[in-house]
Amino acid sequence: MLRKKTSSVASRTRLASAIEAMGASAMDRRAFLRRSGLAAGGLAAAGTLTGGMVRKAKAAGPTAATAEIKKTVCTHCSVGCTVLAEVQDGVWTGQEPGFDSPFNLGSHCAKGASVREHAHGERRLKYPTKLVNGKWERVSWEQAINEIGDQMMKIRDESGPDSVYWLGSAKHSNEQAYLVRKFAAFWGTNNVDHQARICHSTTVAGVANTWGYGAMTNSYNDIHNSKAILIIGGNPAEAHPVSLLHVLKAKEENNAPLIVCDPRFTRTAAHASEYVRFRPGSDVALVWGILWHIFENGWEDKEFIRQRVWGMDEIKTEVANWTPDEVERVTGVPGSQLKRVARTLANNRPGTLIWCMGGTQHTNGNNNTRAYCALQLALGNMGKAGGGTNIFRGHDNVQGATDLGVLADTLPGYYGLSKGSWGHWARVWDVSFDNLAGRFATMKKPDGSDREMMFETGIPVSRWIDGVLEDKENLVQPDNTRAMVFWGHAPNSQTRLPDMKRAMEKLDLLVIMDPFPTMSAIMHDRKDGVYLLPATTQFETYGSVTASNRSIQWREKVVEPLFESKPDHVIAYLLAKKFGFAEDLFKNIEVNGEEPLIEDLTREFNRGMWTIGYTGQSPERLKLHMENQHTFDRTTLRARGGPADGDFYGMPWPCWGTAEMNHPGSAVLYDTSLPVAEGGMGFRARFGVERNGDNLLAEGSWPVGSEIEDGYPEFTMAMLIKLGWDKDLTPYERQTIEWVAGMRDARPSSEEVGETSQTGDMPSDYDEKVGGVNWKTDLSGGIQRVAIAHGCAPYGNAKARVVVWTFPDPVPLHREPLYTVRRDLLDKYATYEDKTFWRVPTRYESIQKTDYSKDFPIILTSGRLVEYEGGGDETRSNPWLAELQQDMFIEVNTRDANDLGVRDGEMVWVHGPEGGKVKVMAMVTERVGTGVAFMPFHFGGHWQGEDQRSKYPKGADPYVLGEATNTAQTYGYDSVTQMQETKATLCRIERIG
Ligand code: SF4
Repeated sequence: MLRKKTSSVASRTRLASAIEAMGASAMDRRAFLRRSGLAAGGLAAAGTLTGGMVRKAKAAGPTAATAEIKKTVCTHCSVGCTVLAEVQDGVWTGQEPGFDSPFNLGSHCAKGASVREHAHGERRLKYPTKLVNGKWERVSWEQAINEIGDQMMKIRDESGPDSVYWLGSAKHSNEQAYLVRKFAAFWGTNNVDHQARICHSTTVAGVANTWGYGAMTNSYNDIHNSKAILIIGGNPAEAHPVSLLHVLKAKEENNAPLIVCDPRFTRTAAHASEYVRFRPGSDVALVWGILWHIFENGWEDKEFIRQRVWGMDEIKTEVANWTPDEVERVTGVPGSQLKRVARTLANNRPGTLIWCMGGTQHTNGNNNTRAYCALQLALGNMGKAGGGTNIFRGHDNVQGATDLGVLADTLPGYYGLSKGSWGHWARVWDVSFDNLAGRFATMKKPDGSDREMMFETGIPVSRWIDGVLEDKENLVQPDNTRAMVFWGHAPNSQTRLPDMKRAMEKLDLLVIMDPFPTMSAIMHDRKDGVYLLPATTQFETYGSVTASNRSIQWREKVVEPLFESKPDHVIAYLLAKKFGFAEDLFKNIEVNGEEPLIEDLTREFNRGMWTIGYTGQSPERLKLHMENQHTFDRTTLRARGGPADGDFYGMPWPCWGTAEMNHPGSAVLYDTSLPVAEGGMGFRARFGVERNGDNLLAEGSWPVGSEIEDGYPEFTMAMLIKLGWDKDLTPYERQTIEWVAGMRDARPSSEEVGETSQTGDMPSDYDEKVGGVNWKTDLSGGIQRVAIAHGCAPYGNAKARVVVWTFPDPVPLHREPLYTVRRDLLDKYATYEDKTFWRVPTRYESIQKTDYSKDFPIILTSGRLVEYEGGGDETRSNPWLAELQQDMFIEVNTRDANDLGVRDGEMVWVHGPEGGKVKVMAMVTERVGTGVAFMPFHFGGHWQGEDQRSKYPKGADPYVLGEATNTAQTYGYDSVTQMQETKATLCRIERIG
């Protein structure tokens, strides 16, 4: 039950007083009420709107009786904690954590506990603004959209659609994310991406290429079942605080050993039973060091490997090189410790492996993620409750925005960019393929043939600056990037900020759409050509959001949009109207005034996302789950009785087939102990059926209840026909498949196809024509339904592969970071050759061959703090959080500090090898080892020693400013995904004064 905590009056905080002292730059309560249009009746409640905490309920007077509770989800991290918002007369007056939510069980961290202030925050952008002669000027939405639209269309005419970059957000709802990707397609570019590129793209690529899907396999709750927990490169105590509730439950109740491997003794490491400190950037060596002991002692799960894994012998050959001595030489970890870790993992199965950005953000990040997978496969820990790879995603909807394809290399649902993929989405969108193709540019290849840009991956967000700065001749697109849209993205989360500053200054047009100005508004020295458009938070709209464990939750709208802000889907509509493609974009989506109907967007992606099973989670089912959270088991996530009986909470994808099929979702991926109809499955058959004469399909392993008791490839219509199961298709399903195959002109409607209607005479090549339609492209869901009715997973049943023959390092290899102090290791572990991919030239060896280690002797790594999130603009603008951490700092080991003559609390310069520098406070600590320094990445607003507060639009400067670590951080990109390297560069620390 919701228990109000509004009966006590909190004393005023230090920061609240400071805020008042900011005087003119802060908006007072009256101004807030006037501009937000709140009724006078809200005045008493408005006492809660600045600085102060929730007041006594009686202060609300007669309106107290009208309080409504709105159920929403925290907008910070991917745990997905439920927030119960108390609303009176349209004013958000109080909040509580959701006690019924199986994810947070009545808990919140400091960020979640203060989201009301995030929505009501005084430091938000309040109206559209543009930069004119170096000054911010208020403009109307109409003027802003017209001017931006005109400039973009001019750029499109002159340079082609690829010269406008649409940078989306991990803060979009699923519906908005889907719309942004679709919008980019209608604009005619794949230059669209978002935060996931720089947090977990190496996970998605590495994991999807190992066993099928690039996502967390189990859930936070399932960790309750773990007998051991291994965390590498993750600090959930700060980055995902409420998740620790689940980790510690396993530690305490199962006596599960908690092993934390990290270069830094984090707050998570403080809970560990075994802490392993290793050198940043040596993950593969570390994991192979653990596996060396596992193979040496025969602790691997041989039967699991025989049935379900391909390529482990090649891993064994590589691992054999990683003797304890070699591992210690490279990682710094003694062999005896890794033997203990290996034995602990072998003796406590199933164990789970958790990783975050400490593992992913490297030039060989995809090698790291695949090495982690190989370890879990060798132990036989996959597809089991308590096991799995629990990859904690970062932002609240980074999983959903990834799934919905706000990415430069795919359409929604990981369909890719092939002609078939575009054809699929054209059918879903009810437009012709030619309609879409005509919007994209074509350029000449060196051999004179045409390069059609619609099939080419775009420039990833990590490299957008090179799209601007690189010589046009070196780019694989018709022209440079000339306009940049930051649609909910913090630039300070990206490396090479001095280069980004130059890129921002070179652009024709910079558009920032965000609730807060972000550092994009001020880090450059532009005088014009910058627009700030106030977007709403997710509390001022509604829709679905996907937690890290693939569960989808539905947020209710808490309050109407504040100030002049507009939700992202409304902004998309306004721009589409300006560009003249609104009619096509919203063809089957109701638009009320200027607001597209969210439920129609959900239903539209439900109709297309067959690949990953985003098809069964209708708005109605999602709302039902939110209303009945209390009926779901807190460990299995399965509803026990109640209206959603048997469903897993939030129907974690894949939730196969149509909503009518009532698939419960899949709580644990690749779990063969459950029938597919109840959430079970083997590994996905994604890599063919044979390799070098070896069978890639599962052997002697299948989900219980399967009529095919062995491995099998993915389902196509041809396979159904061969098995004789096509007879189980309904007339509507069959006719839809025929339409997809091009055998019918019009798409059949389920209402029009009678139960008894027949297909009629079959042409002789019928089987051949329909045979190519598969479980991913059949828009009726019939192939999925029939496969599941026979106990089979639509995507097949195969082995996982630990050798990815399509990647630069098929077997994951250790490679030294580009900037390394270990020059002695380069003869064996050098980086890659320079190459051009994702449209841009990319440097590896040309950087590594220069020795920077003498001038920059300290390894610099970065990470999160519990108080802040992402680039930090929202959270540093929140007075409750801002008070908790007011200074940007660098952690320096005691020995290094003493050698440098630096004392705790003193200011220092931190210089990076590419010329960037930051002025920060030294924290002298043993958290980091000798020769390693750490900086958090949430700060911004200072630039190489200068406070830039005066450059923000009046009243929109975050309370706390500081240097961005990425001003000093450097070049380096993953060899597959262009993930940035933030965890292992070099720096020099200098005492000031
Ligand atoms: Fe929960 Fe994460 Fe929000 Fe904290 S930030 S309340 S852990 S969702």
